[in-house]
Amino acid sequence: MRPTGKLHLGHYVGALSNWVKLQDQYDCFYFIADWHALTTDYADTSRVKQSVVEIAIDWLAAGLDPERCALFIQSHVPQHAELHLLFSMITPLGWLERVPTYKEQRENIHDKDLGMYGFLGYPVLQSADILVYKGNYVPVGEDQVSHIELTREIARRFNNFYPLRGKSVLPEPQPLLTPSPKLPGTDGRKMSKSYNNAILLSDPEPVIRQKLKTMVTDPKRVRRTDPGNPDDCPVGSLHKIFSDKQTIQNVYAGCTTAGIGCIECKGWAADSIVKVIAPMQERRQKFEQNPKLAWEILETGSARARKVAEATMQDVREAMNFSHKYEEKLGAGNF
Ligand code: SF4
Repeated sequence: MRPTGKLHLGHYVGALSNWVKLQDQYDCFYFIADWHALTTDYADTSRVKQSVVEIAIDWLAAGLDPERCALFIQSHVPQHAELHLLFSMITPLGWLERVPTYKEQRENIHDKDLGMYGFLGYPVLQSADILVYKGNYVPVGEDQVSHIELTREIARRFNNFYPLRGKSVLPEPQPLLTPSPKLPGTDGRKMSKSYNNAILLSDPEPVIRQKLKTMVTDPKRVRRTDPGNPDDCPVGSLHKIFSDKQTIQNVYAGCTTAGIGCIECKGWAADSIVKVIAPMQERRQKFEQNPKLAWEILETGSARARKVAEATMQDVREAMNFSHKYEEKLGAGNF
């Protein structure tokens, strides 16, 4: 996850809640991609470190547990950069120019100059991020599948050029597709910090309730006496994600018959969201009071990640004839 500031409910339902489940099923490595932040925000790095800590606190609050997964900072594991450099030597430019998100962002982002070498190459860095742990699976949404494809192609090319004792060094990872329901923000558009419509995981309960009150509803429900349809209402979408079956039934029954008002319905949605966020708020307290604790968890995680990454790099270097060991074939008689 790139460090772009505090996380919101969209991050939780789209990724984090799934990561929390995965930590008991796999040997998971989750990192804060601070180098990736540079691919678009290279000119001002003043907030990167602050964002790293904010995300770490959100992660820990959401239930990621350093005892059950590795939580770390990308730039504290320099092996990512080494593998990125090696991959950059064997990745054809055409592969990168074809990546759909590259084309999309070049076309849509106009307030920054993205004509940078690092921006074109960021999927190569992502491939290194994955393969430096010999990752078998990557939990991603549909829009990231092309990046995993590219990672597989790079791994294949690497294995093809540089087998180690007749075997492939790198696995070809698979996407672990996670259902990520689209979460509407308070204005009905996709929840996003840049739209200023987000409910943050760190928002206190009164703020959550206030934000919900301002949320747009089914546009056909103009008056209290007009029936509405939760399927056409952003608040209805929130219910479908966060509320229990009974509440959802009450929402449908009340909304379609004008039996309930939107204020009441939003109150129920707020109750459901608060139920999910309250335990997070409790967990986050100690880290907010002492953010250094979160930093130390990332440091410990980074040390663990470095160990695994270095083991991979030893194989990679050896396969490419860059190992740090002296070899007898270099010996006397050859000069
Ligand atoms: S009652 Fe609820 S679901 Fe129906 S329009 Fe109002 S807020 Fe939306």
